[in-house]
Amino acid sequence: MPAKSLQELFVEELKDTYDAEKRLTRALPKMAKAATATELKAAFTSHLKETEGQVRRLEKVFRAVGEKPKGKTCHGIMGIVEEGNKMIEELDKGPVLDAALIAGAQKVEHYEIASYGTLAYFAEMMDYGEAKDLLGETLDEEKAADANLTTLAMSRVNQQALRNAGAEDEEDEGFAIPASIRRAGLFGSLANDSSGRGTRKRSTARRATKKR
Ligand code: FE
Ligand code: ZN
Ligand code: FE
Repeated sequence: MPAKSLQELFVEELKDTYDAEKRLTRALPKMAKAATATELKAAFTSHLKETEGQVRRLEKVFRAVGEKPKGKTCHGIMGIVEEGNKMIEELDKGPVLDAALIAGAQKVEHYEIASYGTLAYFAEMMDYGEAKDLLGETLDEEKAADANLTTLAMSRVNQQALRNAGAEDEEDEGFAIPASIRRAGLFGSLANDSSGRGTRKRSTARRATKKR
């Protein structure tokens, strides 16, 4: 049904987003399973919990504006999830698949940020105070999820940059990172968790640099 008013458009967008979140509760466990890096697995698992909460929060939004919770196929998220599934099928587990998973996950978060930003703004325009607050809460969670994925990607870039500075021969202990990826300086520490092993290796790399 084509939306003829802002009110109708708002409800159509709510249905789209409700469908999107439900799809993501099915996609995130697969992404966690496909990820190799411990902290990436953890990021997907914790965002799954958050996403389940977002589904319930959307149900509250529907009720707050006098509508029944109902989904309508979100082709945008369906497409991004399909692309992710293809990556999982085609790529071996490891740093390249992890990089692809981060890229796909960030596309999802950006899509959601656009959806919730619009929904919260519509709710504000129509004086749906409660709906606006609820949508704003999820908007903040999606922004934080996106920032966390950026941090995960960037921390690897930084560590790889340090390693390149002086420890070219140093191999990751977890799994082999293809030389092409290491040279590109991307995701170089995928095998490291945040428990301090990375820190130790960083200081090793720094000492190696000083010796030159
Ligand atoms: Fe979400
Ligand atoms: Zn959509
Ligand atoms: Fe999300």
